[in-house]
Amino acid sequence: MQNTIKYQEDRQPIIELSAPSAGRALKFKRQLLQHVFDHSIESIMVTDEAGIILQVNAAFSEITGYSAEEAIGQTPRLVQSARHEPGFYQQMWLQLQQSGSWSGQVWNRRKSGEVYLQWLNINTLTDDEGRITHRVAIGHDLSGVKSTHHERTLFTFKDPLTQLGNRQLLTSRLDQALAEAERNRIRVGLMVIDVGRLRPVNEELGLAWGDDVLRQQARILQAAVDEADTLVRLQGDQFAVLRHSRAGDVTMAQLADKLLGLLGQPIVLADQNIVSLQPSIGIAIYPRDATDNAGLLQAAEHAHAMAKRGGRNRFQFVDQRQHDLHHRELLIEHSLHHVLNTAAGEGLSLHYQPQVFPGNGQILAMEALLRWEHPRLGAISPAEFIPVAEQSGQSVRLDRWVIEQVCAQIAEWRCHYPQLPVVSINLSAQQFSQPDFADWLQACIKEAGIQAEWLKLEVTETAMMMHKDTCVMMLGRLRELGFKISLDDFGTGYSALACLHQFPLDELKIDRSFMVEASLNERAFMLLKTIVGLAQQLSLSLVVEGVEQQHQLDLLADFGPLMVQGYFFYRPLPVVDVMGLLGERPAS
Ligand code: C2E
Ligand code: CA
Ligand code: CA
Repeated sequence: MQNTIKYQEDRQPIIELSAPSAGRALKFKRQLLQHVFDHSIESIMVTDEAGIILQVNAAFSEITGYSAEEAIGQTPRLVQSARHEPGFYQQMWLQLQQSGSWSGQVWNRRKSGEVYLQWLNINTLTDDEGRITHRVAIGHDLSGVKSTHHERTLFTFKDPLTQLGNRQLLTSRLDQALAEAERNRIRVGLMVIDVGRLRPVNEELGLAWGDDVLRQQARILQAAVDEADTLVRLQGDQFAVLRHSRAGDVTMAQLADKLLGLLGQPIVLADQNIVSLQPSIGIAIYPRDATDNAGLLQAAEHAHAMAKRGGRNRFQFVDQRQHDLHHRELLIEHSLHHVLNTAAGEGLSLHYQPQVFPGNGQILAMEALLRWEHPRLGAISPAEFIPVAEQSGQSVRLDRWVIEQVCAQIAEWRCHYPQLPVVSINLSAQQFSQPDFADWLQACIKEAGIQAEWLKLEVTETAMMMHKDTCVMMLGRLRELGFKISLDDFGTGYSALACLHQFPLDELKIDRSFMVEASLNERAFMLLKTIVGLAQQLSLSLVVEGVEQQHQLDLLADFGPLMVQGYFFYRPLPVVDVMGLLGERPAS
């Protein structure tokens, strides 16, 4: 009995079993077949004996993305993924010829390019003389379906395209490697490699060529890594190398360098097209960069992202900069501890920056600013080490060291310059959690033989808002004792505007950023003017920080009495320069 293909009027072909008569039973059978064909969740493809597609069902179109019109007339190559070695299809073909059927798992490719796994059954239909007339391929989509144990063992650890291991294999090997490293106190290195810029290859030459490139790169990688290393393909164009031993920074860097060189070589494709890629590599080391399996992979992926951002063709250890910064911070913290404990401020010194009445250049005050010459790191800015001191709980001691120095300095200067300007001292936020601070300060000035009115205490807006209640109380007490209180960096932290009237203040220091902005745009200038007006209404004295240029100074001309502190007049000066200045300049 010969089977024929007929087309319905709407051009949807059906399989028609050839029949001598058109009896009712046969009609029913045909309708039933048509129904199964149309509504099957399995994809069905019918080809002729030469492999030309004659018919596909709706499930086929849904799964592959190809309509019947697009598929009919093509060959099954339309959905082949190129993930299988050529030998795979030869085997399939051979078995089909010998036994008339084949079944197994196949990686196919949808129209979108996505590759999916299918369980495929191919059967051959023959006519009465045994001549092949059709082949029917019924496919069951396995993507997203939990695979059976057999499928798991077959596919879980293997990347079908490159025949390398996959992410699951890496995870499993990482578990073993980390446990071993823990036991033997050795390092484990993990490298995430991106062969780079594969997208243009896929887009311009086609996905099959992209696969070809990946297979070539996989072979290059395999030849380059040690036998003991685990090489896997993570996803897309990303590979990973896990090194169980000899995973020091130097050996990992050497391997990365070698791989970059090899992967960066132009690749000649089978069609003689030449492709040049730009690989990038991220390296993470256990236990330095992470404490567990997932963390190490994440760290290596992060390092890889940094390498990629850094311009490709390069490798990068985990957050090298962050790493260095962390080390530097630890060194600063440790050294500060040493300086404050043992060597009585060795390397620390104070500079003083005058605050000037711009009308006549008179120095009305000076701000004491810390300087630190570190034995290994050189000069470190207080903008860097003060936050470290604050985070490591050393800022209270550091402030007190500064205050003692300043008090002693004032006492000494007063002997020579009875009209010495007021000296400003910066207080860190932590002082407000020290209930004894006011008493301590009072004892300190008494010991130095100086008066409270000769000192101004600068507190930042942020510190004030952080410890609002204790701050109001403590500053009230300090003010009663005669110290002047200045609100530093006004306008940068939390807005203290609403509570400005609650704080016992003498002075407002307008942050440098306002001066910078005001000289650039009108709105910022108006804002500066408003703050100045506000301070004047609250009877606060004013210091404008960061005046560097004449034109900035000119902006302040109509603002009424205020002080300026900035490079235009003076930079922070070492003690010797201050003495020279005090000798030649009239003080208040
Ligand atoms: P700050 O209290 O706002 O000090 C003013 C900073 O602005 C100083 O930086 C000063 O050198 C800089 N400056 C002054 N005029 C100008 C100018 O016209 N242009 C520019 N670009 N900058 C100017 P410095 O000395 O690096 O201090 C940075 C910060 O470190 C200080 O900011 C303060 O918050 C903190 N600090 C400094 N010394 C101490 C201290 O003894 N104790 C505490 N707790 N903090 C301190
Ligand atoms: Ca200050
Ligand atoms: Ca300031």
